[in-house]
Amino acid sequence: MRVHELAKELGVNSKDLVPQIRKLGFDAKNHMSVVDDEIVQLMRKVCGKSGAKKSEGKVKADGLVHTQNAKAAVEDEEIEEVAAETETEELQKLEKELQDLNKPEPPAGIPISFPITVGDLAKVLGKTIPEMIKALMTMGVFANVNQLLNEEIVFTVAKQLEIPVRRETSDVEKLAKQVVEKEDDPSKLKLRPPVVTMMGHVDHGKTSLLDAIRKTNVAAREVGLITQHIGAYGVTIPGKGHVTFMDTPGHEAFTAMRARGANVTDVVVLVVAADDGVMPQTIEAADHAREAGCPIIVAINKSDLPSANPQKVMTGLQQINLMPEEWGGKTVCVKVSAKTGKGIEELLELLLLESEILDLKANPDRLAAGAVIESHLSKGQGPVATVLIQKGTLRIGDNMICGPFYGKVRSLRNDLGKNVKEAGPSYAVLVSGLNGVPEAGETFVVLQDEKIVRQLAEKRALEHREREMRGSDKHLALEDLYDRISEGTFKELKLIVKADVQGSSEALKQSLEGLSNDSCRVRVVHSGIGGINESDIVLAMASEAIVLGFHVKADTNAQTLMEREHVDVRYYGIIYEAVDDVRKALEGLLEPTLKEVLDGRVEIRKIFHSSKVGNIGGGYVLKGKIIRNNRIRLVRDHVVIFEGTLSALKRFKDDVRDVQEGYECGISLHNFNDIKEGDLIESFHVDKIAKKL
Ligand code: GDP
Repeated sequence: MRVHELAKELGVNSKDLVPQIRKLGFDAKNHMSVVDDEIVQLMRKVCGKSGAKKSEGKVKADGLVHTQNAKAAVEDEEIEEVAAETETEELQKLEKELQDLNKPEPPAGIPISFPITVGDLAKVLGKTIPEMIKALMTMGVFANVNQLLNEEIVFTVAKQLEIPVRRETSDVEKLAKQVVEKEDDPSKLKLRPPVVTMMGHVDHGKTSLLDAIRKTNVAAREVGLITQHIGAYGVTIPGKGHVTFMDTPGHEAFTAMRARGANVTDVVVLVVAADDGVMPQTIEAADHAREAGCPIIVAINKSDLPSANPQKVMTGLQQINLMPEEWGGKTVCVKVSAKTGKGIEELLELLLLESEILDLKANPDRLAAGAVIESHLSKGQGPVATVLIQKGTLRIGDNMICGPFYGKVRSLRNDLGKNVKEAGPSYAVLVSGLNGVPEAGETFVVLQDEKIVRQLAEKRALEHREREMRGSDKHLALEDLYDRISEGTFKELKLIVKADVQGSSEALKQSLEGLSNDSCRVRVVHSGIGGINESDIVLAMASEAIVLGFHVKADTNAQTLMEREHVDVRYYGIIYEAVDDVRKALEGLLEPTLKEVLDGRVEIRKIFHSSKVGNIGGGYVLKGKIIRNNRIRLVRDHVVIFEGTLSALKRFKDDVRDVQEGYECGISLHNFNDIKEGDLIESFHVDKIAKKL
């Protein structure tokens, strides 16, 4: 039965029926979708006598699954009393509704959350693995135990085995987010140490300072240990406090972490060599820190040198809006020497003072969440990752999810190389037990339920693979600006300006910022002299900025990165043109551009020869959908072999207009017969992006 027929029978609008069917966990694309008997029965029951009211109850009941899971996952956490009360009330109400609904008939079928591995499917269907593999083989699906299966295959094979199944709808991603973002009860918050990153111009002494500080670690010295390089280390100042230092200096690392969503640094120490003064990378680092909203403390290093000239450093600082305290400004500057150790204690004390002012707090009594700062594959231990804990306490045995990987924490080792049972906020520990090596900057969270952790990781892994196929998500482009502003959420256009000479960079900055209007502010987050480098692109990614090059181009690394990450970089030779483009973009007047939009990608898995039509490719839609009348491109080993149109698109024996992701199809191409197994067919269309006021 088609959805519109069912809608007619039930006396409802098919537009309203589609989401209802989906909410019940079944697939329905539009009013033309075919729904099977089970759904028809169910919808008749749901909509039947008491109409909309009951269906609403059913939908709410579905919501309860989330709430219950969420509850289980945050069980150990404190919920504010009032919130808890209303939640309990709501839960009870929902639970009752669910019971009422379930009494006549519980939802049919074994709940399955997708994607599911062959092994897990066998388990839930009560089959042995060989039985499962055999059943799949009879359908022409050759899969191993760990292979993930999509809905179409699972429903078909379950039907064949005569076992009713249904889709389990629990939004695990939302749940994990809830756990991470859950506000802590203010009374539970305790002070935590500051996390510090060293930044500054090359050779100004970041590494030397980190080493010098490491040596002052009294806690380590007392027990005769030396701090290990795990990516971060802590220093305890007896009777005063603790400071955690990130062990990878440099603003690229800092911003790269931020670009991946991990903003772990509380305070930046900007290292400036006393003999050299403020240099281009000092400015860059300061801009990166400011963009991240991190307070800056300046360490004027190498003050032991006879050529040290702190006055020159401070003049330079003043010019980049870091007016030293000594001169009546707000920037704390401290003279240090990594070589003699002078000033290091003072620096540590200043960091503690800053942290007091910042009132850094976290709740240690909850499940942990934080970010990865380093990771590698260890010969003895498998994947290991150094994580910085931002909230809660991480313990051995915790169920941890980190990007697309998960696992039970097997061991925790601190920066002194000692095994520990737990680690709290602002501490870094080396974790083993994950099933893969996560990237630095990836965030992690601990959840109570092992099953949910696994589900979530599998879902992410699948999405990750899809993203890789599709290329990364697009960043802000100037053409999209007007639309973004019109949506009302976009209030500030951030720009990075690189120019060949200081004068141009200043002039550009001023003219561009002058374009700010009531609906959108224009702000140059970083301007500098020289080519566009990798760190500019990383900053653009982290801040959603657009990069303007004036008489300069991107270097090779920056080029690769901007292409991969789709960062909008524009080159200009005349100031007026750059300013005019931004102005037009703000007003929505930017010239229309032609843009190719990829709709889907099909993998050819088998070739059939037909004497009438030639070669037909048996394909599987990996992503999106393939559309009959779109243009296509045939890609073989990353090389485009053919561009043109389809001559036929079939699903089984029928000609169809499109075929969706996860489904098989038959394809033949117009004027091209040389299709091969493994070919990819991309279906795309070209959009003309016009702008108007
Ligand atoms: P980074 O690139 O910022 O990490 O700089 P390094 O820590 O590698 O230091 C660069 C050079 O400066 C090295 O040769 C250090 O020995 C030297 N250096 C670092 N700090 C000091 C200092 O306080 N005094 C003197 N005289 N030399 C220093």
